Amino acid sequence: MTSAEALEHARAEGIHQLRIPTPFAVGRVNCYLIEDDPLTLVDTGPNSGKALDELEHQLADHGHAIDDLELVILTHQHIDHLGLIEVIQSRSSADVAAIDIAVDHLAGYQESADADDEFAASLMLRYGIPQDMIFALRSVSRSFRGWGAHATVSRPLADGESLELRDRALEVQHRPGHSPSDTLFWDSDRRILIAADHLIAHISSNPLLSRPLDGSDERPQALVRYLESLRRTREVPAEIVLPGHGEPVTDHVALIDERIAMHARRAEKLYALIADRPRTAYELAQELWGNVAVTQAFLTLSEVVGHVDLLMNEDRVREVADGEVVRFEATE
Ligand SMILES: [Zn+2]
Repeated sequence: MTSAEALEHARAEGIHQLRIPTPFAVGRVNCYLIEDDPLTLVDTGPNSGKALDELEHQLADHGHAIDDLELVILTHQHIDHLGLIEVIQSRSSADVAAIDIAVDHLAGYQESADADDEFAASLMLRYGIPQDMIFALRSVSRSFRGWGAHATVSRPLADGESLELRDRALEVQHRPGHSPSDTLFWDSDRRILIAADHLIAHISSNPLLSRPLDGSDERPQALVRYLESLRRTREVPAEIVLPGHGEPVTDHVALIDERIAMHARRAEKLYALIADRPRTAYELAQELWGNVAVTQAFLTLSEVVGHVDLLMNEDRVREVADGEVVRFEATE
């Protein structure tokens, strides 16, 4: 099945892909309109006039308006996926569904974003990013705030529960890694998996270093969790995976195998650099990505730390403190 056929097939089952613009490097975000009872929208796009215009137009193409929406499902906590939720909630009586552990985070958007920035700054310091860069990145992050919004979740979802619509049931699957709140929606009758940013065809999904949703300050091993989640998704007998960006995935097992192999290769590359001499995560990121480690500092840092976690779990690498900064060295 080609990706065009996959979209056509989804359409025939009442699931329409809406492609909403974002100001971010990732480009458009995929939202999904499910024509069922309740009339359902999966993700909203970011909080901008342009995104709102497009959402309205694309809903109108299917004969609907924002006020008609009865349920909005949020797949995860990232602002490119949920920024319009406040506008939608003010214009419709839609219920808002999201995984239960994300409810408080979503309700206190400003506080959550401040705490996320704080958490990111302390990690960047620890992993060797210079202080002036950390300040600069913080103001970049603040400038993105307006694209998000707070969301009042009226329908918290538990992992494993079934979300019942008139014509279909969607099994809720909490699969953290890309973010702590990543949630997949599995329609086993139709073998369609709505996967958001958990699995994307054209780019590997970044397991971002994230503050835990339970408020503790223990850093979760994002890549380790992500790989566990991917292995579970590999077992799902999906025919079509509908992602949060780009084209549908029609062979998720092959794509997941490719991703797992890529991460293993990247871990070995990092191991070779660490065995050569002890380095900070930031130095490792610069070795692998050059200047991109500066322009995309947090992203590349997340990549490095995720892979070093794999090596530390295998006892091949250990962390050595040097003042406020930590370096990684080989254990033998
Ligand atoms: Zn995301």
